[in-house]
Amino acid sequence: MARIVVKFGGTSVADIERIKSVAARVKRIVDQGNEVAVVVSAMAGATNQLVQWVREAATLHDAREYDVVVASGEQVTAGLVAIALQEAGVDARSWLGWQIPVRTDGAHGKARIAGIDGDALIARMARGQVPVVAGFQGIGPEGRVTTLGRGGSDTSAVALAAAVRADRCDIYTDVDGVYTTDPRIVAKARKLNKITYEEMLELASVGAKVLQTRSVEIAMNHGVRVQVLSSFTDEPGTLVVDEGEIVEQEVVSGIAYSRDEAKITLIKVADRPGVAAAIFGPLADANVNVDMIVQNVSEDGRATDLTFTVSKADYDRAVQILEARRASLGFDRLVGDKNVAKISVIGVGMRSHAGIALRMFTALAEKGINIQVISTSEIKVSVLVAEEYTELAVRALHTAYGLDAA
Ligand code: ASP
Ligand code: MG
Repeated sequence: MARIVVKFGGTSVADIERIKSVAARVKRIVDQGNEVAVVVSAMAGATNQLVQWVREAATLHDAREYDVVVASGEQVTAGLVAIALQEAGVDARSWLGWQIPVRTDGAHGKARIAGIDGDALIARMARGQVPVVAGFQGIGPEGRVTTLGRGGSDTSAVALAAAVRADRCDIYTDVDGVYTTDPRIVAKARKLNKITYEEMLELASVGAKVLQTRSVEIAMNHGVRVQVLSSFTDEPGTLVVDEGEIVEQEVVSGIAYSRDEAKITLIKVADRPGVAAAIFGPLADANVNVDMIVQNVSEDGRATDLTFTVSKADYDRAVQILEARRASLGFDRLVGDKNVAKISVIGVGMRSHAGIALRMFTALAEKGINIQVISTSEIKVSVLVAEEYTELAVRALHTAYGLDAA
């Protein structure tokens, strides 16, 4: 017997037929003798529709009322899943965020969970009842409904699993696990049986949108074992676990890519203290996230070129901010390029193996792909290349690190 939190994403509860098959699946897990709590997303597309209505009502809207509207999608599915479970003969009861309560901070639209009281749910599960919890929502310090940011029901599920001390949190979605890379690009991509929290975080941060990043952080901090699996098959999925649980660790676990990057180079920036702060300060103030940054030493000690990346969506704003400050920052000119992609190889094995980056550079060189910018972390090497080489680069690296399926 285990205590399991199971979460179903929007596609898994997209219509009544699917909700009935979710109920049937939950019943099977209960019948195996497990204690189960369910967390649900809104029906696929429902949240988008709600967001659109809010925008149509007012471009500049009150964030508290935005949350009241967009949180409603999960209320519908929590009730429907509870009804379908009851209909299948399972004792079930729905719970909204405020009823548990799931306490959050007051950052409406992107609230962070401050704490969840798991006692009531633990007591109900002990008597054989299945709580069906509306994901994505909580209650703020002022007693108002909050939401956790798009994709936030993953975070609800993992945080709830921590609060009820669950043995596992199973996230049912429309993919059957985490792959070595995007199977749409590389036919030989393999499903991973296990991946570490840290690798999952890096994958999420470079665009593999399987889990909300925040949910992985919570899982890592609380040691929640998370499984990503499909609600349309009965195959085991991918377990996201602590490094110690993985016996045969590959050096590289996955290759990720992001086409959402743009490159900015400032030519002949003054080489003196305070310049980097003067450049990145205004960008940060405008909420522009800067990712890779490269600055070389200057030949003459006076001026140097500075290159960095921002997301494509922030590009125009970043250029505008910098051009407006050209005189005070003292750079010669700005050269921008939106035609770039970031390719990353990720693996905790990098900590203990040398030559990982070299293998990347060699594989790309063999394909004639020029590397524009390089950045590394303890378990990741990223390069920026021209966007048209994205697929070629990902395939070449997948082969170079021995990840291709047999
Ligand atoms: N329904 C919310 C969204 O679409 C939360 C979620 O699905 O995780 O973002
Ligand atoms: Mg999701």
